[in-house]
Amino acid sequence: MKVLKFGGTSVASPENILKVVEIVKNKSRNSQLIIVASAMGGVTNLLVKSGELAGKGNEKYKSILSEIEQKHFSAIDQLFSYEKQSDIKVQIKQVLNELDDICNGIFLLREIFPKTKDFLMSFGERLSALIISESFNVNLIPTKLIDARDLIITDENFGNANVNFDLTNKNVQQRLKNVKENIFVSGFIASSMSRKLTTLGRGGSDYTASILASAVDAEMLEIWTDVDGVMTADPNIVSSAYLLEKLSYEEAMELSHFGAKVIYSPTINPVLWKGIPVLIKNTFKPDTKGTLICKEGSKNGKPVKGLSRINKISLLTLTGGGMVGVTGVAARLFTALSLSKVNVIFITQASSEHTITIGIDIDEEGIAREAITREFENEIELGKIKALQVEHDLSIVALVGDNMKESVGLSGKSFSSLGKNGINVRAIAQGSTERNISIVINRKDVHKALNVLHERFFLSKLKKVHLFLIGVGNVGETLISQIQEQYEYLKKEHKLEIKIVALANSRKMLFNQNAINLTNWKKTLIEEGEVMDRFKFIEIMQQMNIRNSVFVDNTADETIAGLYHQVLDKSISVVASNKIAASSEYANYLNLNMLAKQKNVKFLFETNVGAGLPILKTINDMVKSGDKISKIQAVLSGSLNFIFNNFIKGVSFSDVVKQAMEEGYTEPDPRIDLSGMDVARKILILARESGYEMEMSEINNSSFMPKELMEKDTVKEFLTALKDYDAYFEKMRHEAENDDTKLRYVAEFDKGNANVGLKKADSSKAYYQLDGKDNIVLLYTNRYKEQPLVVKGAGAGADVTASGVFADIISIANQ
Ligand code: ADP
Ligand code: ASP
Ligand code: MG
Repeated sequence: MKVLKFGGTSVASPENILKVVEIVKNKSRNSQLIIVASAMGGVTNLLVKSGELAGKGNEKYKSILSEIEQKHFSAIDQLFSYEKQSDIKVQIKQVLNELDDICNGIFLLREIFPKTKDFLMSFGERLSALIISESFNVNLIPTKLIDARDLIITDENFGNANVNFDLTNKNVQQRLKNVKENIFVSGFIASSMSRKLTTLGRGGSDYTASILASAVDAEMLEIWTDVDGVMTADPNIVSSAYLLEKLSYEEAMELSHFGAKVIYSPTINPVLWKGIPVLIKNTFKPDTKGTLICKEGSKNGKPVKGLSRINKISLLTLTGGGMVGVTGVAARLFTALSLSKVNVIFITQASSEHTITIGIDIDEEGIAREAITREFENEIELGKIKALQVEHDLSIVALVGDNMKESVGLSGKSFSSLGKNGINVRAIAQGSTERNISIVINRKDVHKALNVLHERFFLSKLKKVHLFLIGVGNVGETLISQIQEQYEYLKKEHKLEIKIVALANSRKMLFNQNAINLTNWKKTLIEEGEVMDRFKFIEIMQQMNIRNSVFVDNTADETIAGLYHQVLDKSISVVASNKIAASSEYANYLNLNMLAKQKNVKFLFETNVGAGLPILKTINDMVKSGDKISKIQAVLSGSLNFIFNNFIKGVSFSDVVKQAMEEGYTEPDPRIDLSGMDVARKILILARESGYEMEMSEINNSSFMPKELMEKDTVKEFLTALKDYDAYFEKMRHEAENDDTKLRYVAEFDKGNANVGLKKADSSKAYYQLDGKDNIVLLYTNRYKEQPLVVKGAGAGADVTASGVFADIISIANQ
């Protein structure tokens, strides 16, 4: 004999019920079946709601009852022939009238007792039973409906009754002995010895099926639900969760105990006693393999089998010197809780015995608090134990697996992954079976934590990185196309998935948790984006709370640079091509770097100097390996170099500047380049990264630009006026040419002093020969004393800058 159980979603609609009929028809060819079903999906919750409303004297409960009636009647209309319909409707109507009376009673009393609540909740299964069992019969699957109350006997712990297995087994064996056809039993409901209706707890239909399977020594228990089986995590939260084909009873118990709703946790015991295998199957995909739960789980080489979570818990902590070395404190605590029927989910005790912390369901917090305070009243009064400390809004995430005990460092790995994503661990416990590590975190972080841990333990091969991108000018736009081009390659070859989840320019901002579709992003940003507000951007980013987030700033905006502190503080890495933060006051630069370290995230700005050239990285590696940089000579402005290289005989200076602008080699305001300001910022950053404390004001900047020009109000005015100075610049050019030199804008750092300015370089200088928009950096260090280490190459342009930003992002992803 086999027992098949169908959950709420599986019987939620007439279409679904027909799927169930099909499955049962196939299965009943080979063996007699016991079929257990839940209430139609959502009905139990509606019943609870109607009870709550009625209990508050709110007549709206009536509309909920109509909704329930409507749901069942419309199923009947679709499932049965006309003659049959009225017959079943009469039966259903009788039950519904009883439901009406109960709710009316609650409404008049303005109170709902646990006993009444159980009775109320039973209607879901009682109603669905009539429809489903009759659907079998009309489809020529002879089935006898047997009332669960005549089979399953419990105590009177309403809401979560305890089964009396001796009586139940006897009942089942006796009553089912002579039944030849299939048997239909409602899930969830039972009866006490004095014939009061009880329930087995929310989700209890699974348990009903397991109790029956155990009582009849079934060859198999099949639980048919709305997912493929037990997965590595709840697929509704972790989209990359995958099916577990085989689990041990203990693993299944542990996962379900810690919240994996796919099996109601008491379900495992009855089948475990008898060694009956359990198969979890998807009603909507009957051909998928499902999960087999039996004595031996599979050894798939992974220590962690699955992840689960309990959403709402409270932590209660008892602290005090009076607890040290005193025997029996823990025993008294647990006895007090057990007498009050509080289920303790989680316990940790410091080895000093100075504190005991327990985790319980938030709904039991009040009772638990009262029970503990009563038990330790004397000690609390005498000050030996402090008043009970209570924390709410917490959740537990649990790692479960039989092989965890053989694997070291799992907790460490979990904590470091959680920490890197800014998730605070409030408490941990590891069961003595070492089959479970439970971690208490803030409830708001559950989604992120499960995904972080899932990536860490199950999908270390595919890592997802989420980008919040501000600035879609030249660099930003190029970066987006580079990411788009590399997406498949990175995913396939490097197991790295880079998703842009937010985009913004100065006008609009756009968010999409699942990644913005990049094919038409410009249009989407304009049409669907909301008005850009940088503070709101940060707020939404925080609320989205996604793992492996990186904030990317491709603006030249001071106000955006001003946000980094907030971003890093939320444990989100920052990648900036914007130079403003790294060249701001030294205190701010230092602060941001320290904060990144403290939060275990990165603040990277390689492209601040030399675009994509590996300059900062080289300096960092030298410093880390013990070298000391004493002197730097550099041509750091790709823009100025482009300008002076193209400023040849017959070309006017103003035209070259325009060309540089048009080709995207300058800052939006070219005066930032021409003034030497940009170069000064860069040498400042190089000095700082080399380990020197330096401020912008300490850099000598001898500008070659006429002051009046630089003071023009707008870029446009500047460009117009620049034409009038063409002769002035031509004179400069001519002189340099006569001396056999080239004009180079050079930055120097030596013995703590830095200066920038236009120089005439003769052919002996390394920076004499410098093409196009190239940059060059000469680093003189203890190890490179006579001959400097030289980094040279294209140092401006959207392409190389974007690829430098991209490289920074990848280095964060690969951490
Ligand atoms: P039924 O109504 O069939 O009893 P439930 O809603 O009680 O179904 O249980 C199935 C649900 O369990 C799934 O839809 C899924 O959201 C949730 N779930 C939680 N953890 C897991 C997990 N590890 N594997 C599969 N499903 C899970
Ligand atoms: N209908 C009950 C509930 O919603 C029992 C079950 O579905 O297993 O909790
Ligand atoms: Mg269920």
